[in-house]
Amino acid sequence: MFKKKVYSTILTGVLAFTTSVPSVMANIPAVIEGMNEPESEVEGNLFLPFSDLLEIDSTDEQELFSHIFVSISEDSQVVFTHELNDPLIEISIGEHVHYLSKDSEEIRLSLSEGLEDETVIQILVHRLEETDHNYSEQLFEWNVEEFIALIQDYDSEELTEEPTEEPVDDSIESSIEIEEDNENQSEDSEDTDDDTTIEENISALDPEEELEDETEVEELEQDDKVKEIEIEKETGLEEEGEQTTEGIQDSSSLNMRAAEMFNSSVSPERISNGVNVNYTTIVGASGFSIDSLPWGTSGYQRVGTTTQWVNQEVRITQETRNGEYVLIERSNELIGWVDRRALRMAQIGHVNHSKVISLRVRVSSGGYSVDTLPWGTPGYQRMTRTSDFINEEVTAVRQTNNGEYVLLEDSNGSLIGWVDHRAISPAAQKITNGTDVNYTTIVGIGGFTVDSLPWGTSGYQRIDNTRAYENQQVKVVQETRNGEYVLIEQEDKLIGWVDRRALRLAQTGNPRQSTTVQFEATLNRGGYTIDSLPWGTQGYQRIDNTSHYLGEKIRVVRQTHNGNYLLAERNGSLLGWIDHRAVEVTYQVGMVNNSFPVDYYSTVSRGGYSLDTLPWGVEGYQRIQWSQNITGETVKVTQKYGSYVLIEKGGTPLGWIDKSALNGTPQRKTYNEGSVVSYSARLKSGYTIDTLPWGVSGHERLSRTQFYENQEVTVRRQTGSYALIQIGSRVFGWVDRKALQLPVVYIDPGHGGSDPGATNGNTTEAERNLVSALILRDILKARNYEVIMSRTGNQFLSLADRAKDANALNPDIFLSIHHNAMGGAAAGTARGIETFIYHRVASGYGQETNRNNFRTEDPRIAESLRLADAIHPQLINRTGMYNRGLKGNNFHVLRETDMPAVLVELGFIDNASDLALIRSRQFQERAAVAMADGIDRYFKR
Ligand SMILES: [Zn+2]
Repeated sequence: MFKKKVYSTILTGVLAFTTSVPSVMANIPAVIEGMNEPESEVEGNLFLPFSDLLEIDSTDEQELFSHIFVSISEDSQVVFTHELNDPLIEISIGEHVHYLSKDSEEIRLSLSEGLEDETVIQILVHRLEETDHNYSEQLFEWNVEEFIALIQDYDSEELTEEPTEEPVDDSIESSIEIEEDNENQSEDSEDTDDDTTIEENISALDPEEELEDETEVEELEQDDKVKEIEIEKETGLEEEGEQTTEGIQDSSSLNMRAAEMFNSSVSPERISNGVNVNYTTIVGASGFSIDSLPWGTSGYQRVGTTTQWVNQEVRITQETRNGEYVLIERSNELIGWVDRRALRMAQIGHVNHSKVISLRVRVSSGGYSVDTLPWGTPGYQRMTRTSDFINEEVTAVRQTNNGEYVLLEDSNGSLIGWVDHRAISPAAQKITNGTDVNYTTIVGIGGFTVDSLPWGTSGYQRIDNTRAYENQQVKVVQETRNGEYVLIEQEDKLIGWVDRRALRLAQTGNPRQSTTVQFEATLNRGGYTIDSLPWGTQGYQRIDNTSHYLGEKIRVVRQTHNGNYLLAERNGSLLGWIDHRAVEVTYQVGMVNNSFPVDYYSTVSRGGYSLDTLPWGVEGYQRIQWSQNITGETVKVTQKYGSYVLIEKGGTPLGWIDKSALNGTPQRKTYNEGSVVSYSARLKSGYTIDTLPWGVSGHERLSRTQFYENQEVTVRRQTGSYALIQIGSRVFGWVDRKALQLPVVYIDPGHGGSDPGATNGNTTEAERNLVSALILRDILKARNYEVIMSRTGNQFLSLADRAKDANALNPDIFLSIHHNAMGGAAAGTARGIETFIYHRVASGYGQETNRNNFRTEDPRIAESLRLADAIHPQLINRTGMYNRGLKGNNFHVLRETDMPAVLVELGFIDNASDLALIRSRQFQERAAVAMADGIDRYFKR
C-alpha cells in the first residue's frame, strides 16, 4: 500500500550566508540580476520540520531532529543534509533526483546543471512506517525563484550581528511573546474574508514577565547565529513571483550596516516577499524606530520613531513574513517599518466565515500562534503562542467554516484568541443528562475509541484509543442513561467516554435468592442494563446494555426468585443479569408426567400466584407472569397436576397455576347409588366426566372423555346408565356408561341349520355349540363385555360368512365353539377337550401339537396363543375333562379372521361319558365360566 498524504508545507528557515552569491547566481539567469555583490558571502540553511509527517507533536526537541538543512557551498553547490532518522528524502532539482537517507547524510547538487527559472525544486520526504510497510510522504516544492527568495528571506532576517538598534525604550515593549518562530501569512490571506468583527479586547499581557523570555531568545540567537522562522505555506506559494528581485536587492546591500541616524532622505519601501495586509491599528508605544525597510534588513535605514505617532491610527499594508515588522501608512503615505510591538494590542475578533461552537478542548500542541483573528485573515495579529496554554482545558467558542481555526476562551470566560485547530484536542466532558456513578474498573482489550462525548453524540470527537489504557484501572464517573457509554477518569483527570464494552467485565455472580432455569429468550428491548448481579444487589456492577444485543437469542440459566432478573448466556458465555422486561420469552407451556386432562371453567380470584411453564418447582419451570395480571378472568382449566392446574384463555395456554388462585375447582362428590363393580373398559370420546352422575343435582363437569379416548379405565361403581371410573390410581368421576368402550367378544357357535355338525342320536353338535355360546354370552355380558354372536338361532352359516362377519365388526377376539366326534370305526374312542389356534402344517391339513412350531412372529398368532393359553387350562380345570391339549390347525375361521381367534372343542359327542357331561347344564355352565374366566384373564380384567 502506498498512502500519499498531501500536506501544506511548513518551512522553517535558518540562514546565515557565507557563500559567494555571484558564483551561485551566475548559473541562474532569471535571478542573478542584482545579486552580483562581490563581497557577499551566503550560506543558507533551509530548515524543514517534518513533525506533521511524523505525526508527532511538534515539540521543539522534535523539530531539531526533523529537519533538512539546505546550504549553498562556496563552490556553488547546494548542500542538503538532514537530521532525520528514518525518512528517506528524495530531492529533485529539475530532472535530477537525489536521495538522502541514513546512509547518505549529505548530497551536493551543482546549481550549474541546467537550472532554469522553470526548474522545479522538490524535496520529497518518504517515511517508511515499519508496521505495515505503508509509506507516507510530504512534498515541498518551489520554483527556482521561490527557492532563492526563500533563502533571501532568511538571509535578510538574519544577516546582521548584534542589532545596534534595539527599541529605544525597552520598558515599552509589548508583552506579546516574541519567540522567534513566527507564523507568516500565505497567499490565502487575500482570499480570506475582510469582514472582521471585533468581539472582545484582549488585555495586554504582563510586560515584565515576557521581557525575560525575550532576552533569552536574544541570547540564543547570538549564540547560534540561528533564527528560526516558520513559514506556513498553505498552497500555491509558487504563484508568488515578485519577491526575488527585492530580496536580491536587499542582498546587494548586504555589507551596509544599520543606520543609527534618522535619514529623512530615504523613503520607506514595500518589500517583495512581504505579506500584503490591510488593517488599521493604533500606535501604542513610543521609542521604536521607524525604518525604510524591516529593521535589520539589508539597507534598512531609520526614517523616524514611533514617538510622534503614539495614539494615532495608522494603516498596516505590509508585514514581514514572520510578522515582526509591519509597514505602516497614514493617508496613503508610507510612514515606514516598525516593530509590531510598537502597535497597540490588537483586538480579538471573529470573522464572518465562522460559526459559534462550544467545545471543551485541551491545548495539546505548543507550537502554534495565538492570533486576534484566524491566521491569515487580513488584519490578524499574533498575540502569543499556544505553548502558554499547553495542556489547559479551554473552550472553543467559534470555528472557521473550514474548520482550520478556532477561537478559544479560558475558564474565566475571557477570549484567548484564534489558534490553529491542530493545536487543540477535544477534551472529555460530562454530559447534562448522564448518570453520575463512581466505581473503578479495569480497561480491557483496546480497540475502542475514547471520545470527548459519548460516541455518536452531536459534537463528539475522538480523543484516543482504549489501547492507551489497556489493563489500567480507571474510575467510571458518569454513564449515559442507557449505560452504553461511560466517562472514565484517571488520577482525577477526565480521560473520555468509552464504550462500556471496553471495560473488563465484572464477574457475574449467583445471588442466593435465585434458582437455576433453562430457557431460550430473545432480547427485544434495548436500554436495560446488564449487570454483574441482579440490579440493585449489593456490589452489582453495570456491565453492558441490552441495546447491544437487540433481537439476539439468549439462554436464561438462572433467575431471581421473584423472576425480575435473569442471568443470560449468549453464545455460550455469560452475558450478565438482565431485567426480565428486556427479554421476550417464547414460553413453551409444557406438560408434565402424571398430570391429567380436565375441562372446566373457573375464575382467577387471587393475586400473588405465579403462572409457570410447568407446575411450580418442576424442573425447568419458568415463571411467565403473576396471577394478579389476570385476576377476575374466567379461564378454562385443562390440566391438573397435584395442586397445580393448567389454565388457558381463548385456546391459548396461560400457564400452570396453583389452584388456590382459582375461585374453586370442581371435586368429585360421594354418591352411593348403584352397585360396586370392578372391570376395565376403554373410554369413548364424546362424553363428559362429572362430579356426580349427570343429571344428579349439583353435578359439575370435571373433564371430557375425549381426553382419555381409548384409555383403559376401571369402573368402580355403576348405576343403570352411569359409571364411576378410575383412571390409573385416581377415582375420577362419573361418565355415561355408553362412554365405556367394553371388550368385544365374537362368539361363533359352529355349524347350524342344514349343517348339524357331529351327531349322536338326536344330539347335534350345532345345538350343543349354540347352548354353550349363549351361556357364555350371558356371562360375558354380565361381566361387561360386548358380545357379538355369529348366530343365535339354528341357521346355516358358511365358514366364509362367519369370518367375513367377524372381520367387518372388528371384535377384540374371536371364539368359535365346537364339539368333537371321531366317527366311523373310531367313533367313541376319543374324549376330552382340545383348543386350537391357526396353524398350517407342511402338508396343508393336520394338527400341530408342538407349540414351539406356532408362528408367533405374527402378532395375531401370538395373541391367539395368549388367548388360548388363557382359556384352555380354565376349561380343563373347571370341567375335569380329559386334556387333549392346545393345538394348531388350518381351520377356516382361524385362518380367515383378522383378530386373535381360538376354536374350542368341548368334548366328544360320540363318546358316551363325554356326551353325558355335554348334555348336563352344570358342565355347560362350568365350561362357559371357564371360557369367560379365560377371556377375563386375556383382557386382564
Ligand atoms: Zn364342529
